[in-house]
Amino acid sequence: MATVADSKQSALVPRPQVRQTQCFIGGKWIPAASGKTFDTLHPATEEVIAQVAEGDKEDIDAAVDAARAQFDGGEWSQMNARDRGRLMYKLADLIEEEADELAALETLDNGKPISDARAADIPLVIQCLRYYAGWADKIQGATIPIDGEMFCYTRREPVGVVGQIIPWNFPALMVAWKWGPALAAGCTIVMKPAEQTPLSCLRMARLAQKAGIPDGVINVVPGYGPTAGAALVEHPGVDKIAFTGEGTTAKIIQRAAAETVKRLTFELGGKSPNVIFADADLEAAIDGSHFGLYFNQGQCCCAGSRLYVQSKAYDEVCDRLASLNSQRRVGDPFDPETQQGPQVDQAQFDKILKYVEFGKADGAQLLTGGKRAGDCGYFVEPTLFAGVTDDMRIAREEIFGPVLSVLKFDDVDEIARRANDTDFGLAAAIWTSDVSKAHRLAARLRAGTVWVNCYNAFDSAAPFGGFKHSGIGRELGEEGLRAYTESKTVTIKLG
Ligand code: NDP
Repeated sequence: MATVADSKQSALVPRPQVRQTQCFIGGKWIPAASGKTFDTLHPATEEVIAQVAEGDKEDIDAAVDAARAQFDGGEWSQMNARDRGRLMYKLADLIEEEADELAALETLDNGKPISDARAADIPLVIQCLRYYAGWADKIQGATIPIDGEMFCYTRREPVGVVGQIIPWNFPALMVAWKWGPALAAGCTIVMKPAEQTPLSCLRMARLAQKAGIPDGVINVVPGYGPTAGAALVEHPGVDKIAFTGEGTTAKIIQRAAAETVKRLTFELGGKSPNVIFADADLEAAIDGSHFGLYFNQGQCCCAGSRLYVQSKAYDEVCDRLASLNSQRRVGDPFDPETQQGPQVDQAQFDKILKYVEFGKADGAQLLTGGKRAGDCGYFVEPTLFAGVTDDMRIAREEIFGPVLSVLKFDDVDEIARRANDTDFGLAAAIWTSDVSKAHRLAARLRAGTVWVNCYNAFDSAAPFGGFKHSGIGRELGEEGLRAYTESKTVTIKLG
């Protein structure tokens, strides 16, 4: 592993100013009703970068009241759809104007390398908001030929007030994935960002206000899950909860939401199989598989964390992955040369190192990494285990860190069975030069997304979500939009 400190450091990108730290409710910036705040840290140095309002039930109640009044008053939900779209385009434009500052805010709060935030997170935010802005005036029902002298049609109406609870791994992008379809459909929003990373969400709320999105359409209450998050889930004035995070949290939410029969969409974790056949373009497969796991410090719900390699190519793939890890530049995320920054917090750091110990104890062969990098911040060395078997904990449980497990397989039937032998079903990938084999296997894999000869190929137009324990419903694309609408059937007896 190369650290950035090993070489001459390139000019660091300047740190951004933190401007918004309060709750955003009904268009006003206000402290939490309790007056409490919590610290948000820079994961590379562990220093406190800001104190953020710690919202709780009282703040959630106020935010839901604001969102409810805005929705029921109809200013947003009944605005000409084209005008709604125009305001969304304006928000995307303002984000584009501030792209560098927002990227730096992501790096400060989450620790991700500035080059990733600039090249991936913020451009995808802009693309997503523009994609859904284009949908605002294209949400249509159908006319339905029913029996008798009747005229029957459906309308697609906004689901109402939506509570949106997001994690810390792609803070700004998760905001766009949630706001985009909700705004296009005409819903109003109460969002609770992750406690580790509230800053870009609050900045985006400020830009939404600047764009002219009416007060009360977007409300943000930073705070903790079991307090602010739970209050949002239980609130009778909320029609739907959209959640991204861990499966155990999703089950708590599902139980609590049952009381008020809320609509739910969940995007949860994964243990995604990534399959390299020996007939693949191995260079592309190795680079793509490395990216498929180590991107974002391994903190991706769809990380290709179970890498299955056909026996003939196994040693070569392991050797080259180890070599990529030894060259990987781990260090200050504000250095544009850095490829891997710190994990988001102490809890994630501890969890990852615990899994490294599980891997060793279960008999996997540690080829690279396995330790803390440096002596400050939550840095973990890029870690590679070979000789992994399906029953090991590192092959079964989500680690959410830079730890790749390489497993061996021989034939297609075997890999279809083993790839599906998991409770998860978020993503999968296949690397092969045989297109028929790719199509056949893609159809057999129980996963919401299958990439062929690529990994992490995201587009706002393509639905994303999980089979099995990896989620309920889809985000992105038309399917993501429909999850923010109710269908109403209108039937008219013709005289
Ligand atoms: P969580 O599921 O706990 O957090 C996600 C969001 O849910 C946060 O905003 C959190 O608040 C909130 N939340 C927590 N408890 C409740 C509750 N009872 N009611 C309502 N909202 C709640 O994930 P973590 O951040 O703790 O990460 C733990 C693990 O989850 C990771 O190691 C990883 O395996 C997985 N994960 C998966 C992600 C994905 O994209 N699928 C993303 C992030 C994590 P708070 O701010 O207090 O945490």
